[in-house]
Amino acid sequence: MDYQATTPVDPRVLDAMLPWFTERFGNAASGHSFGWIAKEAVDVARREVAEVMGAGLREILFTSGATESNNLAIKGVAEAYIKKGRHIISCATEHKAVLEPLKYLIVHGWEVTWLKVDSLGMIDLKELAGALRDDTVLVTLAAANNEIGVIHPLAEIGKLTREKGVLFHVDGAQGYGKFPLDVGAMNIDLMSISGHKIYGPKGVGALYLRRRNPRVRPTPLFHGGDQEEGMRSGTHDVPSLVGLGKAATLANEEMEQESAFLLSLRNKFYQGLCDALPGVILNGDLENRLAGNLNVSFEDVDGDALRMSLRNLAVSSGSACTFASTDPSHVLMALGVDPQLAQSTLRFGFGRFTTEEDCERALKMVIEAVRKLRGASQDHKGQSAT
Ligand SMILES: *Cc1c(COP(=O)(O)O)cnc(C)c1O
Repeated sequence: MDYQATTPVDPRVLDAMLPWFTERFGNAASGHSFGWIAKEAVDVARREVAEVMGAGLREILFTSGATESNNLAIKGVAEAYIKKGRHIISCATEHKAVLEPLKYLIVHGWEVTWLKVDSLGMIDLKELAGALRDDTVLVTLAAANNEIGVIHPLAEIGKLTREKGVLFHVDGAQGYGKFPLDVGAMNIDLMSISGHKIYGPKGVGALYLRRRNPRVRPTPLFHGGDQEEGMRSGTHDVPSLVGLGKAATLANEEMEQESAFLLSLRNKFYQGLCDALPGVILNGDLENRLAGNLNVSFEDVDGDALRMSLRNLAVSSGSACTFASTDPSHVLMALGVDPQLAQSTLRFGFGRFTTEEDCERALKMVIEAVRKLRGASQDHKGQSAT
């Protein structure tokens, strides 16, 4: 029940990867037939990844995941376009892999405008239009939020940035392969994706870099053997790239059917919670949202106690990366959720291999845990009153 944290590798993806570990282990940069076979596999994967977002073959750069892609997009653009200016626009609900590179840049003299979100997690396009300046070099916003699943209006944002000649980067880790994304129609200039969010392997991802109108050229993070046209040196992880390509193709082929399935699981689960329990509060917009995401707060429950009693259920209090932290989620804080209530929040993620039975079992566990904790606190209140 935690598919926004990660997904299992689809068995069809694993099958495609296996030969590339053993029989076909060549280095994709080698100048002999073992290398050429590997290079061909990398280019097939590149085409597969590109096709899902309407990009060209040469516009896909392979990386170790969305964290690296975001760092390259944000720090690489900041450095390369420094003559134009040092102003970037983003939003408080972004993933840490966007927030932290931006904080790094702020320390080094860049200025970031943080767009506000409303109580449903949506930005205001007028505020964005007003924030674009002559020295703005980049707008960076996620396709879909990893905690509350809220989807930004990408086409409208892309229209604004294109009119102003400002680059638009999308952290697509939670969107790519989940709903249609078209870099041409949406005027996206850079987009990060991650293998392990789409039933591919962990430790692999890509960055889309627009090649024409305009050509986007960030400064590389890694220097070395000049792989990926010098934009990302390092020997290609051929099995993982083959897996990423296969995962992208499958996600695209099954997108419509899978979204409908996830939506039905999600809606049924949410309905089940609301029918059984009072004080269940949805976080984030229900319409503009990932099909496989539900994020709810429970009134009158201690958050720590709730997580403890559900430790055998794979759910998250916020994002996976901040689970150990006791601070309330920065995303929920940006939405204006009460800090106490934010602590007793669970994110449920539904995915390709989630079953009706899984949902029923999880639902039962959550309902029982909440009832028990509320009962205990009622008893406690009752006792202290007498
Ligand atoms: C998972 C995730 C990332 C990080 O991706 P990795 O491939 O694990 O580095 C970045 N942004 C968002 C929105 C994510 O969900």
